[in-house]
Formats: sequence, C-alpha cells, structure tokens
Amino acid sequence: MEKVSRDVERKGYLLFKQKKARVELETEKRIHLKVKGETEEHAVIFDKEKNEFSCDCQFFALKQKTCSHIIACKILLIKLGKCPFSISRE
Ligand SMILES: [Zn+2]
Repeated sequence: MEKVSRDVERKGYLLFKQKKARVELETEKRIHLKVKGETEEHAVIFDKEKNEFSCDCQFFALKQKTCSHIIACKILLIKLGKCPFSISRE
C-alpha cells in the first residue's frame, strides 16, 4: 500500500476522533461516506471491488494521493469491520 505522510495521517485520525466521518450509504459495490472538513463537507467513496478510496477534495484531485478525509474514513471502516485494510505506518 502507498505510504501516507504523517501529517495527513494525523489529520485523518483527528477527523475520525472528532467524529467528523460518517457512513452515508452502503451499496453492493460501494460505501459512500461524508467527512466534515474545515470549510466544507467532502464525499469519500470506498470501492469494494477495487479496494480503493476516492475523495472529492482538491488535495486528492491534484495529487491523486490519500488525503486526511480518506484516512478518517478508512479508520472508521476498519472500526466497523467493513474494510480489509490496516493503516500503514512510515
Ligand atoms: Zn479528501
């Protein structure tokens, strides 16, 4: 799995701890989540078939890298037992 910077990881963990991430809808193929960011709410989608996360924020759009919103959702899904991933550490 790709490495996530410590800064992004910490931010994501904080978002999770502050309960900013929630599951909005789960379908057969996808889990749709919402994360309240500093200024706006972001939509994160977990694709169960590809085992991939995507987010609608600028950071993800520009860098195609795991953002703090995705980390928050990943932790949430792991806690809910819905995600096969573990959090990678540098
Ligand atoms: Zn994001």
